[in-house]
Formats: sequence, C-alpha cells, structure tokens
Amino acid sequence: MKPENVVVLGSINVDIGARVNALPRAGETVAGGELSVRLGGKGANQAVAAARAGATVAMRGAVGTESFGLDPVAALEGYGVDMTGVATLAGASGAALITVDAQGENTIVVSPGANGRMAAAGPSCAGALLLAQLELPPELVRDAFRAHKAAGARTVLNAAPAVDPPEDLFALTDILIVNETELARYAGAEPADPADEDEIERAARGLRRPGQTLIVTLGARGALALAEAGRLRVPARPAEARDTTGAGDCFCGALAARLAEGAPLDVALEFAAAAAAISVTRDGAASGMPDRAEIDGALA
Ligand code: ADP
Repeated sequence: MKPENVVVLGSINVDIGARVNALPRAGETVAGGELSVRLGGKGANQAVAAARAGATVAMRGAVGTESFGLDPVAALEGYGVDMTGVATLAGASGAALITVDAQGENTIVVSPGANGRMAAAGPSCAGALLLAQLELPPELVRDAFRAHKAAGARTVLNAAPAVDPPEDLFALTDILIVNETELARYAGAEPADPADEDEIERAARGLRRPGQTLIVTLGARGALALAEAGRLRVPARPAEARDTTGAGDCFCGALAARLAEGAPLDVALEFAAAAAAISVTRDGAASGMPDRAEIDGALA
C-alpha cells in the first residue's frame, strides 16, 4: 500500500436528517419525511474530499459501537480512506440531528459522541501533511500538531467550528483556514461591514502569525490568502449553487491533497476553489465531493 501523504485528524459523524414543512418551535412536535442517515462530520468530509481529489489519506479519529444503522468506517473505506488508525469506542458515534424546512432553512444539533471521548490521536506520520478541524477535543489536536511538527510534518488547521482554541494551537499551525465568521471570532471583532474586504484583510493580518499562511474563505466571493511571500486573492469559480453544505470541507480537503503533492500555494488554491465550486452544485457533503478528473477538467 502507498504511504499516506495526507493524515486527517477529525470528527466522524452520522448525519440523521428529516425534511419538515416548518421547523418545530419549542414544545412543538411536527411530522417529518423519511429519515436520511448519511456520513458526516468535518473530519470525514475533508478526508473524502482529499481522497477524491487524489491524495492517499489515512484518518485519525473515533467512532462508537452504535452508529444508527450506518457503518461510518466502511463508508470512509469505500472512498479509499485508510481507517486503521481510527478507534472504536463503546457507546454512540458522533451524530448530527438535522431538520430542513421547505425553504431550505435548517436546525442542527451535534452530539459529539465518540469524537468527544477520544483520548489520543494515534501515531504521528513523518512526511505526511496533517489536516485537522475543531470538532475533536482541541487539546488533543494541539498535542497531535506538536508531535507532527516535531516529526517534520506540515500542519493545516481548519479552525471550525469557532471554539476557544488552546493558547498554543495556532502557533503550531503552518496553514490556518477560517471562514468570515470564524475570522471575526478569532480576530475578536465583528466587521462593521461584512462585505468590506479591506476590513476582512485587516482582521486577517492581525490574526496571522509570522511564517504562517492564513486563508480566509469568502463563500461565493472566493478566498484570500496571506503568506510570508505576500497576498493572493482567488475568486470563486462560477457555479449554480444548489447545496453549499460542505463547501468549506471540500475546499480544505482538496487544498491539502494538492499541497501534499508539492504544489505551490497559488496552484493549490485554484485547485481547491475549482473543487469547492463543483461541490456546491451537488446535494450532500461527502457524497458531493468531486474527483480528480472532474477538478482537472474544470481547470483545463
Ligand atoms: P464554509 O462552508 O466553511 O463557510 P465558504 O462558504 O467560505 O466556507 O466556502 C468555501 C469555498 O467554497 C469558498 O472559498 C469558495 O471557493 C467555494 N464556494 C462557496 N460558495 C460558492 C459558490 N456559491 N460558488 C462557487 N464557489 C463557492
């Protein structure tokens, strides 16, 4: 087997969803459509995105012995992700309870399950790029970053969702990826005008550490990257958006895959934007991730 070039340390969830006519109010019971039970979690989604984009991916994470009728390990293996480093813990897997109304508005409750009970991240992999998010205990991510950096690996953190990160986590991060909401939270200031890019860039300059690459994803406007060598502004590729859930996960997974091949930042960013633009045209997160041929085709 080929050694992995991307290790994804992150959450593995079972997404349990139902469509409703109107979201229930407090105390109300409403009738829903048939349940959908799908693979989810930022870690799982990004592992699938990286694997579909051409990386050899090994996952670090945890599932429970109870997964609500889905086998998340088999589902990820089906996408070619090496799951031998994923622990199976007694009790429930992480789960997201999702309701979506006729207008596409949703409510989501995430129960961390096994993700929150994980105690150790497993062995570090010299030579592989480590990609993590913040749906696992943040101290565990920090410890894994420290071990991987000591082994000479590059660390990529998608600091989502916005939580209070441990003091030294961002300092151990080579490439930090946030969306606009997360940037505002970590930079400690809501922008007066969220569409004002100068303001976004100012906040990003304040958050970025020396030597670090900071990427801010801007939804349908694309992404902004601040690196030691300077600034890059990558526009989004035009797309008929249908379901933007997982756009950020697709962007992160595809970016990691291309960087792990040795591509320079500008090339990897164009690749990630092309991948994410394809993903928004499709329903579902993991199931909507484009493969390498599709991404290369969009860039040709
Ligand atoms: P998140 O899902 O984490 O909030 P964003 O919404 O910023 O992330 O989207 C991540 C990336 O996906 C963007 O940088 C962009 O490249 C791409 N993207 C998002 N929405 C669209 C869209 N409507 N059309 C084309 N690309 C999009």
